[in-house]
Amino acid sequence: MAHTCIHWFRKGLRLHDNPALMAALRDCKELYPVFILDPHLYNTQVGLNRWRFLIGALKDLDCSLRKLNSRLFVLRGKPEDVFPKLFNKWKVTRLTYEYDTEPYSLSRDKTVTTLAKEQGISVIYKISHTLYDIDRLIEENDGKPPLTYNRLRELAKKLGPPKKPIPAPTFEDMKDIKTPCPEKHEKKYRIPTLEELDLDTTSLGEELFPGGEQEALRRLDEHMKRAGWVCSFEKPQTSPNSLSPSTTVLSPYVTFGCLSARTFWWRLAEVYQGKKHSDPPVSLHGQLLWREFFYTASVGIPNFNKMEGNSACTQVDWDTNPEYLAAWREARTGYPFIDAIMTQLRQEGWMHHLARHAVACFLTRGDLWISWEEGQKVFEELLLDGDWALNAGNWQWLSASTFFHQFFRVYSPVAFGKKTDKYGDYIKKYLPCLKKFPAEYIYEPWKAPRSVQQAAGCIVGKDYPHPIVKHEQVHKKNIQRMKEAYARRSPAQSPVKKQGVKRSAPSIIDMFQKKMKKEANLHLSRLSSTCSLLSLQSVPSNITPT
Ligand SMILES: Cc1cc2nc3c(=O)[nH]c(=O)nc-3n(C[C@H](O)[C@H](O)[C@H](O)COP(=O)(O)OP(=O)(O)OC[C@H]3O[C@@H](n4cnc5c(N)ncnc54)[C@H](O)[C@@H]3O)c2cc1C
Repeated sequence: MAHTCIHWFRKGLRLHDNPALMAALRDCKELYPVFILDPHLYNTQVGLNRWRFLIGALKDLDCSLRKLNSRLFVLRGKPEDVFPKLFNKWKVTRLTYEYDTEPYSLSRDKTVTTLAKEQGISVIYKISHTLYDIDRLIEENDGKPPLTYNRLRELAKKLGPPKKPIPAPTFEDMKDIKTPCPEKHEKKYRIPTLEELDLDTTSLGEELFPGGEQEALRRLDEHMKRAGWVCSFEKPQTSPNSLSPSTTVLSPYVTFGCLSARTFWWRLAEVYQGKKHSDPPVSLHGQLLWREFFYTASVGIPNFNKMEGNSACTQVDWDTNPEYLAAWREARTGYPFIDAIMTQLRQEGWMHHLARHAVACFLTRGDLWISWEEGQKVFEELLLDGDWALNAGNWQWLSASTFFHQFFRVYSPVAFGKKTDKYGDYIKKYLPCLKKFPAEYIYEPWKAPRSVQQAAGCIVGKDYPHPIVKHEQVHKKNIQRMKEAYARRSPAQSPVKKQGVKRSAPSIIDMFQKKMKKEANLHLSRLSSTCSLLSLQSVPSNITPT
């Protein structure tokens, strides 16, 4: 029987490596590609940059579908309300979509699937958002999520390399398939503009990372041409505060599914072929495995985006401090490195992984003692790559709540940035009010004599805030509080023993320390006691993980 099929785009906003879309095309006479602006996902909590990225991705998708004589239908509402009407109106016999592991998505998909089946509609979903079938990874680990990266790697090895991506559908694949477009298509199903969504676009800056599959593939191609860079990529060697990104910035594309993670993986494999190259955890393959690691944890650990009810997460008595939280969020902490990163986040929607480390540590266990859940919310709103699993997982890591337990390793909001940007050019770019400060004071403007502040045209306390806390004091107090939180943990919650912090290979921290010793021996020894911590901290701790 020839089908009338809805392919439901959610993430996976692409044609390449889209097995569910390919399943839609099999024995199909009519295809309706649908995207629903679900108020649960697309609401006031989504920042402007992310909205712009999404709209760009949808336009690109529509454009690619038009080339195949099809169109995208954009609707608004709750999927469980929208679908029954569409099923009837279009006499749908098949529904296809990409499997999504987020708790909300799972329950939404269950409801929609039940509704579809009640109407005799067959439902097909395929796994293509992650490298592996996450449930399979958990199954392979006796039903438990692996809590260390090394364990995840072992499991992935057991399953073999990720599946090869499949090509995008061609004109030939679509030759017998129609997308009946009503005359009113533009009126009823068009992609809304930001203005039509009642968004005030006046604060939008330059679009540095336009959404869409074509842009994703173009950027991937550009990176893959740099074979030497790809092969020697080591995350700890990249810089949190370079003026242009030192990593790929493919994350927004992977998050929205404009780029398939498997395509990314296999393109890297092609570049590596026959060449000496870096390895996980620091390589680009290694980065994709970090993604897999956090996805697996997010599926296997209930209440993953919360502290309470999350069995893997250390229960910490975080403070409630709206003033501190607002200062952090609005780049008013008085620590220029932190404020510059938060400004980059707000303006551009992306910042380097280690920059995320710095601000996440600062908000939580390092300085402000505010819950990682609060930071998670801010990132979710402002990051272009905001991803439920990766955001929650990395925040838990950085706050030393889950996965990473060396809470005594605290990033210094002053010394960390200096290592890769001695003159503070990054700070000057994002905090122009400090641009005339001499390098000596750019990370600590409050230490500059009044005459220097006057000459720089920026008086601390008037034109730029005083530091919100004294890092040298609070971080020590916070380490103590963290110690107490750890002491309250149940033995079962101690992955240090259970999962084995022992490593068969040196950790990234070890590697980073070695590098630092070589490169900056003298410089480091001059740094203060905070810095002695820093030499450990500045290490991509996620890098200890990442
Ligand atoms: C507190 C905090 C919150 C974060 N929230 C998110 C988030 O919401 N969404 C998100 O995509 N990443 C998140 N990350 C992880 C990481 O910072 C970004 O994935 C990375 O900076 C994206 O830049 P890139 O594409 O240039 O990365 P590259 O270094 O070029 O890596 C390639 C790809 O690997 C994946 N990847 C890299 N690092 C990580 C990591 N640590 N964890 C998981 N996947 C990784 C991404 O898909 C990335 O595109 C967070 C990190 C921290 C510390």
